[in-house]
Amino acid sequence: MKPAAFAYHRPESRAQALALLAEHGDEAKIISGGQSLVPAMNFRLARPPILIDINAIPGMDDIREEGGTLVIGARCRHAHFEKPVSSAPIGLLLSRVAANIAHTPIRSRGSFGGSLSHADPASEWCCVARGLEAELVAESTTGRRTIPAAAFFQTIFTTALRPDELLTEIRLPLFGPGWHCGFAEYARRAGDFALAMAVVACRVEGGVIREARVGLGGIASTPVTSPEAVAVLLGQAPSPALFLAAGQAGADATSPDGDIHASGEYRQDLVRAMIRRALTQAFA
Ligand SMILES: Cc1cc2nc3c(=O)[nH]c(=O)nc-3n(C[C@H](O)[C@H](O)[C@H](O)COP(=O)(O)OP(=O)(O)OC[C@H]3O[C@@H](n4cnc5c(N)ncnc54)[C@H](O)[C@@H]3O)c2cc1C
Repeated sequence: MKPAAFAYHRPESRAQALALLAEHGDEAKIISGGQSLVPAMNFRLARPPILIDINAIPGMDDIREEGGTLVIGARCRHAHFEKPVSSAPIGLLLSRVAANIAHTPIRSRGSFGGSLSHADPASEWCCVARGLEAELVAESTTGRRTIPAAAFFQTIFTTALRPDELLTEIRLPLFGPGWHCGFAEYARRAGDFALAMAVVACRVEGGVIREARVGLGGIASTPVTSPEAVAVLLGQAPSPALFLAAGQAGADATSPDGDIHASGEYRQDLVRAMIRRALTQAFA
């Protein structure tokens, strides 16, 4: 099918884009990579009367390190992360994650900020942002605000972004010396959306885990964290038995819904396995 008719704007500055958003409000939709929005428009699941294309705005795909933070421009394509964008542990982690997102043509157009704004609960970047406690920067003509990932994802395909706001930056911890990061997901076919996924980051000092973050995706209406798995890890020396125990604690605390792709029980068991695998990768 073809999309319903729409007016198309291609602003050449961030200020122009924000002015268009302020003028048109929820009549307008940002288009970034178009890899989720265009299929939805073609199926007439979305009929935005106005499209604002952010692809001509300079600087929206910059990546920089600022103190202990990796700052990612919202329009950075998934493919950009296939090679590590930083020598800090976050760089390798993001490259491992990117390899799991869809296929090459989608990775070369789809963007980090587009994924977060779309808020598919099975999105890898959403899991990473929530699990690693990213901060998301949104701008409008009235100013700029920083939204913690915990407050950003509200439910399936729904975020805290207002209709007049543009997501401009994603801020992730670089993770310094002593940090170990890992990611694992299970999909029936390579490139499919995952049935479940886990991201982990642990800081080891004196042979034991002093800080830990565990995020899960694909098992609820938003990406979630697993404080239960974290509680098992803290104060312990990394070991296969510990990773198994953390996975079990994380799985026991979840109750995923079943759907046509997998039963709830199967997804719960995948949570156990994905946490264990992500931890095993982190400490390999
Ligand atoms: C066959 C197929 C397989 C896929 N598999 C996967 C997968 O395995 N994992 C995965 O995570 N994704 C997958 N995707 C989705 C893909 O990653 C998309 O690229 C991504 O979800 C959306 O990014 P985009 O840049 O294409 O956003 P767009 O499609 O351009 O926009 C998506 C939504 O976000 C809004 N938006 C975009 N950018 C901004 C911004 N800066 N500020 C405010 N709002 C914004 C748009 O208005 C729209 O509502 C798949 C897509 C297809 C077609």
